[in-house]
Amino acid sequence: MSDEPTTPLEELDGEQPIEATEPDDLDEEALERRSEALSQVVKFGDPVLRSAASRVTEFDDDLASEAERMIALMRDAIGVGLAATQLGTLRRMLVFQVGSEAEPTVLVNPEIEWRSDEDLATAEEGCLSLPGVIVDVERPLHVRARGVDVRGEPLSVEASGLEARVIQHEVDHLDGVLMIDRAERDQRRGALRALREGGTYAPDPPEEEDAAENGTGSKPAED
Ligand code: ZN
Repeated sequence: MSDEPTTPLEELDGEQPIEATEPDDLDEEALERRSEALSQVVKFGDPVLRSAASRVTEFDDDLASEAERMIALMRDAIGVGLAATQLGTLRRMLVFQVGSEAEPTVLVNPEIEWRSDEDLATAEEGCLSLPGVIVDVERPLHVRARGVDVRGEPLSVEASGLEARVIQHEVDHLDGVLMIDRAERDQRRGALRALREGGTYAPDPPEEEDAAENGTGSKPAED
C-alpha cells in the first residue's frame, strides 16, 4: 500500500503522541524507510487487530527473529512501541523503546500486574495501525508489567509516564483493544469517520483549565 499517512500534528507543541511521532527533521532516506516500515503494519479494518493474541510457548530462533524484525520496524517507523498483532502475528509479544538513549525492550506474554488506578493521566496517543488519527486517552500513570524475555527468562518492568502509556497501549493490542476504544465518544466518532474516509483526526486543543477537569485527584498529563 502506498497511502502513506499524513499526520496533521505540527501544532503538537512537543507533546509526543505514542507509537507514531512526527518526523519533522528526517532526511529523504529516513522518510523512505519510515514509509516502507509503515506499509508492513496492519491497518485499521483488518480483523486481526480485533483478535486476542495467543501466549507464546516456544522460545526458539523464530521468535527471536520476529522480535528483531519488530524492533527494526519500530525504529524505522519512528515509533516507540509495536505489538506483534500489528504485523499480523497473533503472538503475545511487544517491543518498546521510549527515548533515543533507551534500549529496546522485548516483552513476551506480558501482563500488567499492577497499575496506579488512583493516579491517572490523559495524553494524546497515535497508532501506527491508525494512521492520521490522534485521540486523548486516560490511563494509569504508573504500571508494573511482568512477562518473559525472548528466551523465556522472567522479566519485570516498572514504568511511568510515556513508557507506562506505551506498554498499556501495546498490551491492549494483544487483547484486540485499540486506543479509540478508550477515547471519549466524540473523539472516537471523529476518529472513526477519519479512518473511514481516509482523512485525519486530532482532538481540539485543550482549554486552559484542562488540568482540573475531573476532580478525582488525577494529575495533568505527564511532564
Ligand atoms: Zn497502536
